[in-house]
Amino acid sequence: MKLRAVKGMHDILPDEIGRWHRLEAAFRAMASRHGYEEVRTPICEPTALFVRSIGEATDVVEKEMYSFQRHDDELTLRPEGTAGAARAYLEHTVHARQAVARWYYLGPMFRGERPARGRQRQFHQAGCEIYGDAGPACDAEMIDMLVGFLRELGVGEVDVLINSLGSGDTRARYRDALVAHLSPRRDELSEESRRRLEKNPLRILDSKSPRDQELCADAPTVLDVLADDDRAHFDALRRYLDALGTPYRVDPRLVRGLDYYTRTLFELRGAGGELGAQNALGGGGRYDGMIAELGGPATPAIGFALGLERLLLAMSPDAPVSAPLAYLVPLGDPGAVACLVLAKELRAHGVAAIVDGRGGKLKAMMSRAEQRQATLTVLVGDGELERGVVTVKTMATHAQEELPRAQAARVLADRLASTERQH
Ligand code: AMP
Repeated sequence: MKLRAVKGMHDILPDEIGRWHRLEAAFRAMASRHGYEEVRTPICEPTALFVRSIGEATDVVEKEMYSFQRHDDELTLRPEGTAGAARAYLEHTVHARQAVARWYYLGPMFRGERPARGRQRQFHQAGCEIYGDAGPACDAEMIDMLVGFLRELGVGEVDVLINSLGSGDTRARYRDALVAHLSPRRDELSEESRRRLEKNPLRILDSKSPRDQELCADAPTVLDVLADDDRAHFDALRRYLDALGTPYRVDPRLVRGLDYYTRTLFELRGAGGELGAQNALGGGGRYDGMIAELGGPATPAIGFALGLERLLLAMSPDAPVSAPLAYLVPLGDPGAVACLVLAKELRAHGVAAIVDGRGGKLKAMMSRAEQRQATLTVLVGDGELERGVVTVKTMATHAQEELPRAQAARVLADRLASTERQH
C-alpha cells in the first residue's frame, strides 16, 4: 500500500512556507498593534466542549468532527478555536484577574468536510477573541481591523456583511417566525432544509438551493424582531463603522454555521474569482452567552477567525515570498574558506546565507543560486582573494560589482535590509 497524506490534509513544503511566514507575521503584528496577546491551547479537547459550545444541531458537530476515544476519554480534534480559548479562559479564571482580555491564536483546525479548492479537512485559522467588553465599540474596531488587514495583504475586493442575531429570546422568537413562514411550504424545500426545519431552521437561510432561496426571499428577517436594546447596539455598531470609514453591507439573512452567536455577526467574502464557491475569508461575531453556558460568570465576548489557506489564495501574488538570501559561490579551496567565513559574518548581521558546498562549474553553482531564489550571489576565487575583494552579483538586475572583502558583510547586510523594508 502506498502511504499518502490523509485526504484533505496537505503538506506545506519549504517552497510555499515563505508566504505562510509572511502571512502569520503580518497577522501577529496586526494583533499586537491592537492589544491582543497570543494564547496556545491544545489541538484536542473533550468532545463535550464542542457539543456544548458550537451546538448539537450544527453541521460541524453533527457530521464533521474528528472524534475518538483514548484512555476512557471522548476527545475531538478542534474544529475551530473559540471553544478551546473559552475553556482556557474559564479554567484559568482569567476573568478574576483581568477585566478585559484580548487573545489571539493561530493554528490547524480539523473538519471532515468534502475537500474542494479552499476547503480542506485540516486547515489553518488565525483568530482573535475579546472577553469582558460588551461592545459595540470593540465590535466596530474588530471589523475595521480585519478589513484593514485584508487590504494590507493585497486581497482585492472584499464584501463585508454584518447582521445582528439579537440576544435573550430573540433567536427563539425569530426561529418561530421563520418556521411559521416556511412550514406551509415545507414540501417545496430541499431535503436538507426540510430536516433543518425541525433541528436548525436558521441554517435554511444559508441553503445553496435556488428554490430554498426563493422560499426564504419574503421570510421575516431577524432584524424585524430585534428587541430595543439589541437594535440600539446594532445601530451604534453601524455608526462607529461609518465613523471609521469601514465599508459594510447589512445582510439581515446572514447566519453562520455555529450556534453560539448573539448580537453582532459578520463575514468577509472575497469578491474576486480566485476563491470560487469557497469565498468566505473569515467571519465571527458575539457570543455573550458562551462563558456562562460553560459554567463561568456572565461574560460578554466577541471573536473571529480567518481561514489562512483562503487568504493565501486571495493575497496579492507579488507579495514577497521569502526573506532576502545571499548565495556564496566559492571558486577553488581558498575561496571556500573565504565564503564560509563571510557567510558566518553575514548571518551575524542577520542575513540568510548559504555556501554552495557542491563546487564544480560556475554555471552549475549560479543555476543553483537561481533555484534558491537568491537575492544576490557572492563569488570568491583566486583573483578576488589576491585583490582583497569579493564579486557581488545582484540576481534581479544581473549587475556585477566588487566590494572590499573586509566591509562586504556590513555593506551587503545594509543593502538587503533596505530591500526588505521596501516590500
Ligand atoms: P468558521 O470557523 O466556520 O467561522 O470559519 C472561519 C473561516 O475559516 C472561514 O471563513 C474560512 O475562511 C475558514 N474555513 C472554515 N472551514 C474551512 C475548511 N474546511 N477549509 C478551509 N478553510 C476553512
